[in-house]
Amino acid sequence: MSIGAEGRRAISFDDARATILAAASSRVMPTEFVPLDDSLGRTLREDLIAEEPNPRFANSAMDGYAVRSADIASVPVSLRVLEVVPAGRVPSLAVGPGEAIKVMTGAPIPEGADVVVPVERTSSSSPDSVSVLVSLPIGEHVRPAGEDFGAGEKLVSSGRGIDPGVIAILAALGHPTAEVSLLPRVAVISTGDELVSPGEDVGPGQIRDSNSHTIRAMIRAAGCEPGPCWRVVDDADAVAQAVRRVVDHCEVIITLGGISAGDFDPVKQALTSMGEIELWKVAMKPGSPQAFGTVEGKLFFGLPGNPVSSAVVFEMLVRPALYALLGRSNLDRPSIRAMLPVEISSIKNRRDFLRVRLTGDMTNGLLAELTGTQSSGALSSLTKASGLAVIAESVESQRAGTIVHVILTDSELRPTPRI
Ligand code: AMP
Ligand code: MG
Repeated sequence: MSIGAEGRRAISFDDARATILAAASSRVMPTEFVPLDDSLGRTLREDLIAEEPNPRFANSAMDGYAVRSADIASVPVSLRVLEVVPAGRVPSLAVGPGEAIKVMTGAPIPEGADVVVPVERTSSSSPDSVSVLVSLPIGEHVRPAGEDFGAGEKLVSSGRGIDPGVIAILAALGHPTAEVSLLPRVAVISTGDELVSPGEDVGPGQIRDSNSHTIRAMIRAAGCEPGPCWRVVDDADAVAQAVRRVVDHCEVIITLGGISAGDFDPVKQALTSMGEIELWKVAMKPGSPQAFGTVEGKLFFGLPGNPVSSAVVFEMLVRPALYALLGRSNLDRPSIRAMLPVEISSIKNRRDFLRVRLTGDMTNGLLAELTGTQSSGALSSLTKASGLAVIAESVESQRAGTIVHVILTDSELRPTPRI
């Protein structure tokens, strides 16, 4: 570790991440119960353990006739129909030799029966009898009790994001509510004399504030709640004042811009009055200049102002921290191996993240194509990307055609693996 003239700590990507996650993991959010139908996207904070097997009772997988397999060893054979049992009712009789009970899909299998003959494989000219046309082995079209899962089985562990599959289990186990993490509120303070809001007139030298909207969307996409949002001019006192105003109304504070080596960088200047915060030079590209620490116990991230830098730093360092606050068991996105068709030059001991779009398929190989200029201001390169290709610290130059890891950041653009 080294501290430069500006008081900036040079830190590897892995050390930055470890420091951030250590702080976030000690601040896991408390829980609340929400109605099952409102739980999508929240973080489950209870283990889901089956109290009963599923299915709870052996039942028919088809509309048909529950019979004894021994009775249909030679067909056609005529059997006496005792009753009809729809789903939701229970048979009142047992099936004896030469007998059948008509069952609908989901109806309990009557005692004595060991196979269901689908109605399509029978013929019947009266409600009292049926002619079975096929022989079937024991158990055919019967869903045994516990086929899906048994009593005592752990089906979902605490820390998983709630998706429709988890909701299916919650409902099947009889939970009208889910225990989930309270949403961390994340305040965003963007800095810059040059910024105007979308919809406002842009004067000479001004630009539209895209970052605060992008970052708030990323906060929401990470399953957290965008908290107070402020925009301040390049003035250290204004930044410090904004931080003081939001700190009681959020769990995390993010500032955007004003953290580099510029003459007017206000976040950098305000740090001394703002709490336990360090200036960092993280060995990553894009997004090296950063600040991290706490203000009144709340996590503080100072992100660079360049749109691509702030988005990549959010994805690689802030989002995992938010997941840790949520109590998620998995903090990482999936990654996939793909071929980078261009030559790369980098700097030793720096980890680079390239915006790439995946093309090709799993059979013929995936290509990670750069989405255009990798300049930190190139917003469109971010929008086109389906992932971030990682160029490791050990790489100084890399031939075209090298296989790299691509972190998948956009599930919609993810190619469907043919496995
Ligand atoms: P800074 O980190 O404040 O020096 O900003 C670096 C670059 O990012 C400058 O070109 C800024 O104009 C631009 N920038 C800063 N904040 C934003 C923002 N909220 N939205 C879009 N661009 C920004
Ligand atoms: Mg600025």
